[in-house]
Amino acid sequence: MDKDKIYDVVIIGGGPAGLTAGVYAGRARMATLLVEKGISGGQMALTEMVENYPGFPRGIAGAELANRMEEQATHFGVEILNDEVEGLEVQEPVKVVRTAGGGEVRTRCLILATGADHRRLGVPGEEEYSGRGVSYCATCDGAFFRDQDLIVVGGGDSAVEEGLFLTRFARSVTIVHRRDELRAQAILQERAKREPKVRFVWNTVVEAIHGDGQKVTGVATRDVRTGQRGELPAAGVFIYVGMNPGTAFLPAGVALDGEKYVVVDGNLQTSVPGVFAAGDCRQKQVRQVANAVGDGTVAAMMAEKYVAALEG
Ligand code: NAP
Repeated sequence: MDKDKIYDVVIIGGGPAGLTAGVYAGRARMATLLVEKGISGGQMALTEMVENYPGFPRGIAGAELANRMEEQATHFGVEILNDEVEGLEVQEPVKVVRTAGGGEVRTRCLILATGADHRRLGVPGEEEYSGRGVSYCATCDGAFFRDQDLIVVGGGDSAVEEGLFLTRFARSVTIVHRRDELRAQAILQERAKREPKVRFVWNTVVEAIHGDGQKVTGVATRDVRTGQRGELPAAGVFIYVGMNPGTAFLPAGVALDGEKYVVVDGNLQTSVPGVFAAGDCRQKQVRQVANAVGDGTVAAMMAEKYVAALEG
């Protein structure tokens, strides 16, 4: 990172949307900095196998796809800074990005590609046992639970996909879902229903996570139809009840919707000129690697037009 330079574009977030924006911005010969607080690839990098990204008929490991995207972006001249963005000034013609590491970067435009993090369930015991049996990442923590009984909370793609992944290690995986129908893609549902280690507890919510002071021992449940309370023993609880967008650091001028996703127009322009948003952090219905890549493409091409107009 060059603090005396004015970048054409700073991309915040290095998931598939941000890295694709980097590939396009780099090829457009824009001076491009990508700031990523964790590992490149975001959620994708924590996915064991990505099976629905075109071009990989047998799937590709999420971490491998992330590495390839990063290599492609840096090949076209994108600089990568490992730091966390804490604040933005979004005025024209030069915007300022402040990072936790004390950096201050100037740029003509911004692409927000901060993705989303797994939402907390918000029940007693969750925080206390986080990292001691409560997890939001099967890829990271699954192997610690060899031959143990696990609970997965949720009924979306993440819950079912990660629940299936956990069957590699666990003795059993119980998916606790608040309705009697999954939200997950049909192919994932079919696999889960075929997998002998997976069982479902329907119409049930987890009200508390219990432990022995050191580690998780089980969860307290309630049947939402009958009100009946119960207890399910487990060594680990994996929580997949949706996502929270990474938008907390944004200044008030950048409009968010009621769930704190960034509001954009058809060209992925936010409410602030020269600030674009791509991928899971923006308001949209479908959140997939494939459309995050599409978003990164649009945001970078619109950023290029915006910078050209500033210069023209
Ligand atoms: P999601 O689709 O929002 O699903 C969240 C699940 O948690 C839903 O089943 C929801 O129940 C349940 N839930 C929400 N709040 C709850 C609560 N307080 N207590 C109990 N259950 C609760 O989230 P996701 O599965 O993390 O997926 C996020 C996005 O990433 C989606 O767009 C998904 O398609 C995408 N994704 C795709 C893949 C893939 O393509 N392979 C993999 C992972 C994620 P209800 O169903 O009753 O609302």
